[in-house]
Amino acid sequence: MDSSCGGSPKPEPAAACPPPATACCSRGGSPDGAARTPCEHFARMIPNCLEYARAAKAQGRPIVGILCEYTPRELILAGGGVPVCLCGGSADTIPAAETQLPANLCPLIKSTFGYHLQRGNPFLEMADLIVAETTCDGKKKMYELLAETRPVYVLELPQKVDDADALVHWRAELCKFRAMLEQRWGVEIADERIREAAALMNRERALRRRLASLMAAPAPPLSGRQLLDLKSSIAGIPADFEQYETAFDLLSAKPPCAPAEPPVRVLMTGVPMVHGAERVLEIVEDSGGLVVAMENCTGLKPILDDVDLDHPDPIDALADRYFHLPCSVMTRNDRRLETLGRLAETYRPQCVIDLIWQACLTYDVESHRVRRYAEETLGIPYLRIETDYSPSDSARIAVRVEGLFETIRDAGDGAGLHDPRSVHPEAPDSVATTGPCALPPCDASGDGKSDG
Ligand code: SF4
Ligand code: SF4
Repeated sequence: MDSSCGGSPKPEPAAACPPPATACCSRGGSPDGAARTPCEHFARMIPNCLEYARAAKAQGRPIVGILCEYTPRELILAGGGVPVCLCGGSADTIPAAETQLPANLCPLIKSTFGYHLQRGNPFLEMADLIVAETTCDGKKKMYELLAETRPVYVLELPQKVDDADALVHWRAELCKFRAMLEQRWGVEIADERIREAAALMNRERALRRRLASLMAAPAPPLSGRQLLDLKSSIAGIPADFEQYETAFDLLSAKPPCAPAEPPVRVLMTGVPMVHGAERVLEIVEDSGGLVVAMENCTGLKPILDDVDLDHPDPIDALADRYFHLPCSVMTRNDRRLETLGRLAETYRPQCVIDLIWQACLTYDVESHRVRRYAEETLGIPYLRIETDYSPSDSARIAVRVEGLFETIRDAGDGAGLHDPRSVHPEAPDSVATTGPCALPPCDASGDGKSDG
């Protein structure tokens, strides 16, 4: 589940540094109006993806809607399809969804379903197939309604992640899925095609990991909100790859600057913040924080691990890689805590903020373990924020976040802010020097409403 440089332009942070000479996100664009900088490019992420999907469909490629990071995009790509994330992040479609779904349901599920009812998501409207998984109960049951009028295929995801036979079952599900695609599209999905698709996805994951690694620097050259925008609803678009490369070059060459008051480094975890649902991240950063790592499905979680290209059986390699994604629908989900530990070591947060969408029971129940892990193992404060897509509680959330940051500052905990020994190995030295330097906000220009 994944965003354009959305929202209104925000004011510069109080102690903002001068704009860099070569800005990743400089405004203006080229004289012909085309996007030239990475931020301009990803500000047009939805229109770009629409253009790409329409051209692909015109060439006969099937459009495949996906709704979860357990879906192996590689199998869809190997069969010639175009995987597009469909998760809804808009509050506007929720009233329509509530005519059929309970009000007390996760907003992500309701928003996605609302787009379906209103026929408001152009990717969903052009989808030849929608791939779903048996993850949380709300999603599973929503898919049944979706399948009344849309072509839905459900992958059965076993949930005892440490059981060997569960992995065997998941592998069998991927084999069935491959066979279904072959039969449906009249193609052969050969092992070699799967390896090629896995290499493409590994490349994309590596490029995005490298960008995220910039946040490990004591003075990250962009905000968490800006990083969240540097991705696409459709995987494997060559133009995106070029922009990831350019963004890294520009951002890693950015000159350092020293702020009057360093922001509080935040590790965010919990539910995905899909396109349009980035409000809590914005509140955190507007309140004096800097989200240096996002453990969730719109952040690092789906890009931390690659598919083993040397494995003799590419389906085994895919099954192994995807099955071990640390989502709260798994029991036990110890890998989430292990991942948080790894991220804390690399990104040196001063607190953990856990975002829970209302009625998301799995993440909600798991929040107790995450709190204990943050406080007792990582030794940093933890804040749980439960909300939905409505902005009605924004002021209350801001007060709680500001209180957390005040406590951290009062405690004089500057840990990690200026410790060059902790810089991630992939982060270039040039950004590992001093103070935060958020780039100018981007102008929103997307016209679509969802991604994943
Ligand atoms: S949080 Fe879990 S259910 Fe949601 S997209 Fe991620 S893996 Fe899928
Ligand atoms: S946020 Fe929670 S309830 Fe919502 S779709 Fe994801 S796992 Fe399900």
